[in-house]
Amino acid sequence: MTTPLENISRRDFMKYCAATAAVLGLSEFELATKVSEALVATRAKTPVLWLEGQDCAGCTISFAGALNPPIASLILDTLSVRYHETIMAASGYEAESAYHKIVKAGGYVLCVEGSIPTADDRFCMIGRRPFREMVEEAGARADAIIAVGACAAYGGIPAAGPTGAVGINRIIKHKPIINLSTCPVHCDHLVGIILYLLTTGTAPPVDEIGRPKMYFRELIHDNCRRRSYFDNEMFLTDWNDPTQKNWCLYMKGCKGPETYADCPVRRWNDGLNFCIDCGAGCMGCAEPDFYAGMTPLYTAESGRSRNNRSRKHASSVFPLKKQDMKGGGQK
Ligand code: SF4
Ligand code: SF4
Repeated sequence: MTTPLENISRRDFMKYCAATAAVLGLSEFELATKVSEALVATRAKTPVLWLEGQDCAGCTISFAGALNPPIASLILDTLSVRYHETIMAASGYEAESAYHKIVKAGGYVLCVEGSIPTADDRFCMIGRRPFREMVEEAGARADAIIAVGACAAYGGIPAAGPTGAVGINRIIKHKPIINLSTCPVHCDHLVGIILYLLTTGTAPPVDEIGRPKMYFRELIHDNCRRRSYFDNEMFLTDWNDPTQKNWCLYMKGCKGPETYADCPVRRWNDGLNFCIDCGAGCMGCAEPDFYAGMTPLYTAESGRSRNNRSRKHASSVFPLKKQDMKGGGQK
């Protein structure tokens, strides 16, 4: 499915570097140089082990969205996704033995999609083993760990159910975890972080709840195109009134004022659109209390106390201050 690296034009390559250099804090030239060096250094492809627990596979679908733009193969051709239950051809014994082989060798990037049940291991078993055990085992030998999406980061939608669902930082306690917390993960975030890991060999600076600052630094509210309506107290109250079409969605439950993510700038589906520009308020899917703590979704309700609660909770479960594979840190 991917385009071989050698088929990527120089123009495409430089276009990607220009788009990515700013968020990585590098000049376009520096990034191109670093990527070239990393590609030479990683002739042996970097292995990726992708586990799925209590999830809907939406993050896998979002990641697959990065397969079509040719530039994504810049990353994918340097990686070897050796275990991924949804897309791998192997099953049963072959799949289990591939998993054990990769874990035994160590030195991989571990991507975890989905939450982990704590009420009872039987809520999520894979190959007759508790998913929790697999996360512990695979996490122990990983070089870098990425929580892919809201469920793996903080529990997400499953945390609203009876399974005691938690994010992986409640299971892997002594290693840094990079939380990519939207629901689903944004493919640009995932590809960008993998690129960062490959080119720098370190984890990116993160906020107090483990999210890369390059993507989760600013409030949705501060970059929203409806912000002038908010400032002028022009709130949409009737979805069917065309005169209110572009007004602020706060009274319809928008969580933009308490949610940190770059959706208004990056947008989704290759920059096509995002929730608020579609006419739906932000549901706060990048925040630790999503989903249960963000409901009711479509009614006006101050989220400030709710958000403070969720941040306190997330900080208490986030295990390390240092967020660097090789000893750099949270800045
Ligand atoms: S729609 Fe949401 S994010 Fe945009 S200005 Fe209104 S409250 Fe803020
Ligand atoms: S706008 Fe809000 S609900 Fe929509 S993807 Fe971004 S953080 Fe999630």
